[in-house]
Amino acid sequence: MALRDIVVLGDPVLRTVAEEVREIDDSIRALAEDMMQTMMEAPGIGLAAPQVGVSLRLITLDLEEIHGPLVNPRIIRTSKEQESDLEACLSIPEVQGLVRRPSSIVVKGLDLDGRDAVIRAEGLVARCLQHEIDHLDGVVYLDRVSDPKVKVYYPVPDADGEGAVYESELVAVEEVRRRFEARYASKAPA
Ligand code: ZN
Repeated sequence: MALRDIVVLGDPVLRTVAEEVREIDDSIRALAEDMMQTMMEAPGIGLAAPQVGVSLRLITLDLEEIHGPLVNPRIIRTSKEQESDLEACLSIPEVQGLVRRPSSIVVKGLDLDGRDAVIRAEGLVARCLQHEIDHLDGVVYLDRVSDPKVKVYYPVPDADGEGAVYESELVAVEEVRRRFEARYASKAPA
């Protein structure tokens, strides 16, 4: 097992529609293990393969109800009822935004042994699955936020100067996108 680098918004892999996993072989099992470790170390509650730079339809989750990988997940039913909640993403660090999504869904996929897995999810599990499956289609939650501004957190040294506390400001979604793209462009090899 190994930790993998999490790519940040601006990287084109996050805007690419990922390919189906055709065969669950050792390389897929190793990728799933690495993703689980990377997600839990981050820490995060969900991760999609494009977030570690691999354009394949594989996600991992770490929730009370589901803990593990899901191969080729697809949403086969969504509820009419929707609900709003704050979302964040390991590929868009220090940002939070309100997203409205169907409150319950049914997802079909495969486990690592190639067996069918059907998940009826609501609440946080449904939200997390939709967020991760969006990544497989090149969509990030910033594309779906309901307010024109999102919260951006930044560290401020505390009174004794030994640590930092986080404060937040509201920033326009477009500006947040621009900042991440500029940061990526300044680091990407020419
Ligand atoms: Zn994400």
